[in-house]
Amino acid sequence: MMHTLLPHQLRQDISQLFEHAGVGKEEAEQVAANLVLSNSSGHDSHGVGMAPRYIDAIFEKRLMPGAKVTAHIDHGSLLGLNGHGGFGQTVGVEAMNLAFKKVKSEGACIMSLSNSHHLGRIGHFAEMAVAKGWISIHFVNVLSRPVVAAFQAGDGRFGTNPCCIGIPIGYPMGMENKPLNKPQNKPINNAFILDFATSAVAQGKMRVAHNLGLSAKPGLLIDENGQPTTNPSVVVKAQSNGKFGALLTFGEHKGSGLAIACELLGGALSGGGTWRKEANSARAVMNGMLSIVIDPKAMGQDNFFYPETQAFIDWLKESPPEPGTPGMILAGEPERQARLERETGIEIDETTLKELQASALKVNAIGLFQI
Ligand code: NAD
Repeated sequence: MMHTLLPHQLRQDISQLFEHAGVGKEEAEQVAANLVLSNSSGHDSHGVGMAPRYIDAIFEKRLMPGAKVTAHIDHGSLLGLNGHGGFGQTVGVEAMNLAFKKVKSEGACIMSLSNSHHLGRIGHFAEMAVAKGWISIHFVNVLSRPVVAAFQAGDGRFGTNPCCIGIPIGYPMGMENKPLNKPQNKPINNAFILDFATSAVAQGKMRVAHNLGLSAKPGLLIDENGQPTTNPSVVVKAQSNGKFGALLTFGEHKGSGLAIACELLGGALSGGGTWRKEANSARAVMNGMLSIVIDPKAMGQDNFFYPETQAFIDWLKESPPEPGTPGMILAGEPERQARLERETGIEIDETTLKELQASALKVNAIGLFQI
């Protein structure tokens, strides 16, 4: 069963949930806005359903409200940052803003961020960069549970390691400094925002499918014995032999290779570490991220780059649709479309709603998430 909640009500309730767990008002509002924006963007897997897990991670003392980013490397175009276990929704934004200062002075920035708690939807950071007319590329590893198997392997060894590329399309006229924590009424830009988990499907989507009692498509999962399955529960709760199943990567050896690159760049190069242990019951989800931000103007191509990106996408869009499909869609468009459609209401499944209500009780917050 689904329940429709108003985005502003959901933001308020999530914010109050965090405030009752000791998070400062401003930070609680920023995290809540980011989570609700994920729902609005069509990514319920990275939306408010994560809040109970964040509350548990605060109790575990792995998620550290109020933590700020510090820099251990800061020279030329290089930035090495540590998020000290802070909310990814705040330290991730802080890290990007520090990278943006470098881009202004150096034309580009290579930034690593270690020890961030869950960064949520990585496209959020690419949207911050394209709103300035800049390109941004992100490789992220996930320190939580080894839920994804490498190509032709029989058990999970790493996380859903997202990869994201944001490219402005056409001139970014007057798009600077728009607040991106709030749903936008209009598309932020004609930007290409390719943002995906390297697993064939996001772990959170399997949680949502498990909650709804739905089967997964074939080819996405192996069970606790390494056999193909369509049961999403194998990656949500331990099976009869005490083990979990695993998600497969997308694109066989290619997606598997990209996932490994995310682990090596997001984990080893950032200093946050790679995942090399069995599943445990910790609720915290840590991320490491390597980001590259480039100002096309610094490459001397602004008079060419922006019109050329537009011209190429126009050319692509002229392609006749494959019969029975809406035709070519640019990455980033589904999220912008979802924001328009979900402006007046966000659907939350019954299990997620119950988890939010239980989480509110844990922090003695009365009257939240009532419908
Ligand atoms: P997905 O499979 O829904 O793919 C999303 C991407 O594909 C977007 O760029 C979207 O614009 C594009 N897209 C969707 N339909 C399209 C179409 N028909 N044609 C062209 N492009 C299309 O995403 P996912 O793999 O489920 O990941 C969801 C979110 O989860 C992402 O925002 C990702 O950053 C996030 N994530 C975060 C973590 C973390 O630890 N922080 C881990 C994994 C995933």
